[in-house]
Amino acid sequence: MPEAQLTLALSKGRILEETLPLLARVGIVPDEDPARSRRLILSTSQPHIRLLIVRPTDVPTYVLHGGADLGVTGKDVLMEQAGGILYEPLDLRIGHCRLVLAGREGREPDRAQPRVATKYVATTRAFFAARGQQVDVIKLYGSMELAPLVDLADWIVDLVDTGNTLRANGLVPLETLAEISARLVVNPASWKTKHAPVRALVSALAETIGTESAP
Ligand code: AMP
Repeated sequence: MPEAQLTLALSKGRILEETLPLLARVGIVPDEDPARSRRLILSTSQPHIRLLIVRPTDVPTYVLHGGADLGVTGKDVLMEQAGGILYEPLDLRIGHCRLVLAGREGREPDRAQPRVATKYVATTRAFFAARGQQVDVIKLYGSMELAPLVDLADWIVDLVDTGNTLRANGLVPLETLAEISARLVVNPASWKTKHAPVRALVSALAETIGTESAP
């Protein structure tokens, strides 16, 4: 029987730079450099494995609806969107950062109901609901750090890596909502119908990063 085709959706951007070396260690090398190529589907050194290069926030959609069998995206994206529908067998231990609540240094919110600007609306709502604190959540698509500076919001919820962007804008982290890293996710149907090659890939990745995969 020919080996089943596997399609792996990768997140372009920061995570991609760290995902490619990981894939190379398990013998999967794209035929073209994804950072330079304009192709969105790349064949690899393994004839049964191809790669899709998509936005991190689109990875759960591709995997959930079967456009890809597996995907790599940040835990922040999965917390916000996927709500536990996708199998998440492996923490790839790359793309580390923190999802934090941040505000202007030395400033308390002057609104009775503080405003929080973020692209992580669902995660932010859940965080404040769990604390029983009423806030107004304002959706932004980027440059969250700007919102407190022009009093659009009292706080932001955003990813922080080095903390340089917060510092450069006079903001300080107030609380960590979650430690973030990139995760491997699997389409539940592929997990069943293509179990052998999916399992082989998950195990190879788990071995190379020196961790146990979820059963
Ligand atoms: P930094 O200045 O290193 O703390 O990085 C903060 C900026 O980079 C913010 O605008 C974040 O939204 C973004 N950022 C930090 N870490 C990541 C990540 N792992 N993936 C995507 N964006 C990130």
